[in-house]
Amino acid sequence: MDRTIHADVVIIGSGAGGGTVAASLAPLVAQGKRVLLLEKGARIDPKQLTGAEVDSAALHYAQGGAHPTEDRTVTLAYAEGLGGSTLVYTGTSMTPPERVIAGWNLPGLAYSDVVERTAKFAVQNGAAFIPDELINENNRLFQKGCAALGREARQFPINVRGCRGSSLCNLGCPNNAKQGTAQVQIPAAQALGVEVVTHAEVRSLRVGGRGGILDVVVDDTPHPHGILGEWPAGRYVIHAHSVVLAAGAIHTPALLMRSGLAADLPAIGRFWTCHPAHILAGEHDHAISGYVGHPKSFVWEERVVAERYFLESCMYFPFVTAKNLTGFGPDHERLMAAYDRLQMILVLACDDALPEQRVDIDEAGNPVIRYKLMPRTIEAMVRGTRAAAEIFFAAGATAVHAPSARPTLIERSENADLNTRIASKLFLPGTISVSAAHFMGGCRMGITARDSVTTARGQVHGHDWLFVADGSLFPTALEINPYLTIMALADHVAEAVADREGHTAA
Ligand SMILES: Cc1cc2nc3c(=O)[nH]c(=O)nc-3n(C[C@H](O)[C@H](O)[C@H](O)COP(=O)(O)OP(=O)(O)OC[C@H]3O[C@@H](n4cnc5c(N)ncnc54)[C@H](O)[C@@H]3O)c2cc1C
Ligand code: SF4
Repeated sequence: MDRTIHADVVIIGSGAGGGTVAASLAPLVAQGKRVLLLEKGARIDPKQLTGAEVDSAALHYAQGGAHPTEDRTVTLAYAEGLGGSTLVYTGTSMTPPERVIAGWNLPGLAYSDVVERTAKFAVQNGAAFIPDELINENNRLFQKGCAALGREARQFPINVRGCRGSSLCNLGCPNNAKQGTAQVQIPAAQALGVEVVTHAEVRSLRVGGRGGILDVVVDDTPHPHGILGEWPAGRYVIHAHSVVLAAGAIHTPALLMRSGLAADLPAIGRFWTCHPAHILAGEHDHAISGYVGHPKSFVWEERVVAERYFLESCMYFPFVTAKNLTGFGPDHERLMAAYDRLQMILVLACDDALPEQRVDIDEAGNPVIRYKLMPRTIEAMVRGTRAAAEIFFAAGATAVHAPSARPTLIERSENADLNTRIASKLFLPGTISVSAAHFMGGCRMGITARDSVTTARGQVHGHDWLFVADGSLFPTALEINPYLTIMALADHVAEAVADREGHTAA
């Protein structure tokens, strides 16, 4: 038999959005409110993390980190566990660009307010520049290549406390040094009385009672590195006065769709976007050992407005590197044999948020991502690949692997020929590994229910009990790493929830 639970506020999902809302609303508990945070994944015990690449990916990520889009041209990486994707993020802590937030043109969402809130979370998460002496060779080469070309590589803050330079950030930090919601916001919320329930998946929601009613399944399957859930396994019906949906930009729209809300809100799932990305590798004649030290500290973003891409220093372990190199045979083998001598750069493209790019659901209610790489986006990735190849060679690389070149390995002697060697006509979607980890849209903020899902305060149009507080709120791509902006928006939404509850948020 279903168990029935009553709460004032229920938050669904514990990542950058949900974990933040939990902390912001925690003072409500002292004012007599019951606040629940429901997370589908497990609470991961960092002490049990081994750093083994394939096992760690399977443990943290949905579909091993490679949830395919419907046409299988892009794989999507996101985590499921207490902390959401902050469990595996790198910790790059960026302030959003004014042109993007101002371009959203949302009354009640001022750029200055978003910046103030991102600054608050940057401090909370200990974001700071890595000291010069700890910057590893892979990052130095990025700086060096940019400087030789007269380009300004900007260092960004990283949110770590006590980092031991194991480079395992994307596999779950075994040293508990990286600061995500599981380290910062959720413990703070729990200390003030927010109840956290893991292994709890919300299957659907509907209007009813004093606000909303949720159908929840609590699972007791043990997670190999996780701690058992707080509630006995079974089905639960939870009545809540206010519900905050923060299941991420894939699962939030999917949950609203399988709950039948799209009939009145046609924008649910639509205007979905991401930063499609490529890993590029440059071979050097000396050891780089990019897997020692913090992996990532620099961005070059001077072309983001004109050419719709930006480049970041990056490092990936052998399995992901091998998967991302295009082609087979001797060239692939040569690069993998040179793994210790590889410099790596990530090209990230920005595309338009279009109504036809969307999250949909299949017959079982699972998300299907109907997202296509558009010609403009492909052109951006190709331009970014050329710019990265220039940086590799300027830093001293002897050869560069470019997925949109044939053959894919470009020798140093061909350096002058990059415009013809790397070309859009060679970028054949489906034959080139493209992945994304920054998902935005699907429940975009806006003014009307015709072309948006929520108000600028995250309240779903026509449903005063229901709020969204995650990456799905973004009306367009952020054009920079998004987690701090998601936290800022979630904090903004939490104030609206507290208003509804007749109280004040933190
Ligand atoms: C490998 C990687 C590296 C990244 N690096 C950076 C970086 O350096 N800097 C940066 O700014 N961003 C980075 N990001 C992106 C950033 O982590 C995400 O944008 C951010 O965490 C998204 O926040 P969110 O709240 O929208 O969703 P998430 O953080 O994904 O959280 C959603 C949560 O909801 C849970 N959930 C889903 N469905 C349900 C349900 N039905 N019931 C209950 N719970 C549910 C999920 O299990 C998950 O825990 C990275 C992402 C990845 C994957
Ligand atoms: S590099 Fe630092 S933050 Fe990243 S996993 Fe290692 S100790 Fe953790």
